Amino acid sequence: MLISIVVPCFNEEEILERFHARVTDEIARLGHEFQLVYVDDGSRDGTLPILETLAAVDPRARYLSFSRNFGKEAAMLAGLQHAEGDAVVIMDADLQHPPELIGRMLEEHALGNDQVIARRTRKGDRVTRTVGARAYYWLINRLVDVELVDGVGDFRLLSRRTVDAILELTEYNRFSKGLFAWVGFRTTTFSYENAVREQGRSAWTFGKLLNYGLDGLLSFNNKPLRAALYLGLLLLSLALAYATWIVGVALVRGVDTPGYVTLLVVVTALAGVQMVMVGVVGEYVGRIYYEVKRRPHFLVKASNISPSQGPRPPQEPHPARGLVRR
Ligand code: UDP
Ligand code: MG
Repeated sequence: MLISIVVPCFNEEEILERFHARVTDEIARLGHEFQLVYVDDGSRDGTLPILETLAAVDPRARYLSFSRNFGKEAAMLAGLQHAEGDAVVIMDADLQHPPELIGRMLEEHALGNDQVIARRTRKGDRVTRTVGARAYYWLINRLVDVELVDGVGDFRLLSRRTVDAILELTEYNRFSKGLFAWVGFRTTTFSYENAVREQGRSAWTFGKLLNYGLDGLLSFNNKPLRAALYLGLLLLSLALAYATWIVGVALVRGVDTPGYVTLLVVVTALAGVQMVMVGVVGEYVGRIYYEVKRRPHFLVKASNISPSQGPRPPQEPHPARGLVRR
C-alpha cells in the first residue's frame, strides 16, 4: 500500500526540515511505502529552496510551488491531485499535527474507515477563540446541511475513493471542512491534544477567520436566501396589518397627526433589512461570478513532478451523480 502525505506550506522555512525529519522518522517505523507531496503556496521566504533540497536528497519527497499565494484550500487541492497513494494523509507543516498519529490513522483505515479524522482539543487556545469557535459551530450546524464539528480540521486520512470524490467537486469557492463532510463514506474520529505552534505564527487573523466562517455558511446551502425571503414576507405582513389598523383608526376617529417617530423607525428599519437582503443576494451572485469564470484554482511555477505523473486525470462521472443535488 502506498501512503501519500499532503503538506500545504506557506512561509514555513523555519520548520520544514524538522517537519520532514520527524515525519520520515515516523513513517520508517510504520513499514508502508510513503510519498510526501509538499505544496508551496507562494511562500515569500526560503520554503521553495528547502523543498528543492529535500526532494533532491529524498526521492519520496515531491513538491510543487504556486506562482503566488492561492490559499490553503488551493494548496490542499493541488496536493490531493498529485497524490498517488491508496490513502492520503493531509497535515500542516508547522508540526501542530503530530506525525505520531499517522500510525493510529492507518490502523483505523485498515479497519475499513474511509476518513479518519484527528480532532484537536482546544487546549492552549486563547479564550476568545475557543468561545468564538463554540458559538460559530453552534450556529452553523443549525444552518448548513452537512455536520461540522468543532476541532475537526484538515488533519485526516482519506481513502482513495474519498480523494477521488473530493476531486470531483470542482467548485472554485472551496470550504474543505464542508466538502469532506459532504462526500461522507465511513468516517471515524479520535481526539488529540493540540500542540502549540513551535515556530512562526498562524496566518489566521480575526478578519480571515470571520471571512472563512462566512464562506462556510454561504458555500453550503441557500438557507440565508430563504431566511431573507421569510423575513421580507414577515415584515410585509406586519406592515400591512399596521396599515390596516391606521386606516381603520383614521376612519373611526378622524385623522390626527402623531406618528412621526413610528414613521421614522419603520423607514430606517426597512431600509436596514433591505440592505441586509441585498447583501445576502450579492454574496451569492458574487460566488456565481467566481464560479462561472472557471479560472484554475492555482498556477504552478515550479515542481519536481513530471507532467506524466500528474495531476490525476478527471474521473469518469458516476452515472448516478447529478441526480440528487443539495
Ligand atoms: N497555509 C497555506 N496557505 C496559506 C496559509 C496557510 O498553505 O495561505 C498552510 C500553512 O503553511 C500550514 C497550514 O496551512 O501548513 C495551516 O496554517 P496555519 O498554521 O497558519 O493555520 P492554523 O494552524 O492556525 O489553523
Ligand atoms: Mg498551524
